[in-house]
Amino acid sequence: MPTTSQRTSLFNESVIRRMTRVANAHGAINLSQGFPDFDPPEALLKAAERAARNGPHQYAVTWGAPGFRAALARKQSRLMGLPIDPETNIVVTCGSTEAMMAAMMTACNPGDKVIIFSPFYENYVADTILSGAEPIYVALRPPGFGFDPDELRRAFAQKPKALILCNPSNPSGKVFTRDELLFIAKLAAEHDVFVITDEVYEHIVYAPGKHVYFATLPGMFDRTISCSSLSKTYSITGWRLGYVIAPATIIDAVRKVHDFLTVGAAAPLQEAAITGLELPHSYYDELRAAYTEKRRLFLKYLDDAGLTYTRPDGAYYVMVDITGFGAADDMEFCEWMAREIGVAAVPGSSFFREPVRHLIRFHFAKKAETLAAAGERLAGLRERLKRRA
Ligand code: GLN
Repeated sequence: MPTTSQRTSLFNESVIRRMTRVANAHGAINLSQGFPDFDPPEALLKAAERAARNGPHQYAVTWGAPGFRAALARKQSRLMGLPIDPETNIVVTCGSTEAMMAAMMTACNPGDKVIIFSPFYENYVADTILSGAEPIYVALRPPGFGFDPDELRRAFAQKPKALILCNPSNPSGKVFTRDELLFIAKLAAEHDVFVITDEVYEHIVYAPGKHVYFATLPGMFDRTISCSSLSKTYSITGWRLGYVIAPATIIDAVRKVHDFLTVGAAAPLQEAAITGLELPHSYYDELRAAYTEKRRLFLKYLDDAGLTYTRPDGAYYVMVDITGFGAADDMEFCEWMAREIGVAAVPGSSFFREPVRHLIRFHFAKKAETLAAAGERLAGLRERLKRRA
């Protein structure tokens, strides 16, 4: 029998997606894979009904339905303060997952190096390997998740082709400061490196923070491949709508990669999502307020359970320190917790290059009652662990 490709042996199955299956198998409250358990805005549900009835039901233009691109260009031009041209600066993809893969395949030649901050969202390593490149890791050191400027300088000295920037950051909840971004920008310009961003949490930044689009920093638009999606912003992770924004010459190449990868994102859902892209700005303020409240609630439950954590400044994840809980290993701890406590989290080791085994990641994109139920279960954690010991 022929053997499968070498490249598929170089990365592992996603632990995030696996933990969802573990959660389901044990009927645990799933705070592992980050997705909401509440509905999208009513206007989007109505628009989806209309699209189901009226179409379109056939392929959209491969790089995105014109109406969707026009609405996205209006929204992002307003937010980024840059003229984003719907004809030349956008490719609509199947989630930011495809956006990132298409961006990496567009930017990298086999053998190129790519800087990845660690901890990282799992997909970046697979994206790097599948595009034939090799990662160079730069540590974001817990508990604060700052980076050492000299370590980043040394990474750039290795002549990378690209740097992947997840901001706000999954899993750490870090929001890069303007100064940190300017430092990255300076190195990217000096060494002529692409910056591939994952900005899917652009609307989930807690006050007083404010999202800074990397592409809007002085001189950066030309070397930035911005990836994002509608999943988190409109609570529609299953619609698989993402996009790449970049200069026209880069977009020409991304279009080709995207066309052969997937042809296009779902046409009726692009049509329906226009309604979301056209919501007034107050929608984003309300989204931020809603997540601020979820963060407050969930962090209080963690406090009540005697757990220590790094307070996230953005996104909807929190890294919790399980030192002192007597766990041999974060993976074993998460499996035990899903089974015995009924709450699922992601073992932190799946996000780190370094041998970090004392952190686990929860997400709090859940209804208040789901968070309360999780909080109640977590309150029994110490007691159960004592009995287990
Ligand atoms: N971004 C989400 C997480 O980190 C999951 C995304 C996915 O599984 N495609 O949990």
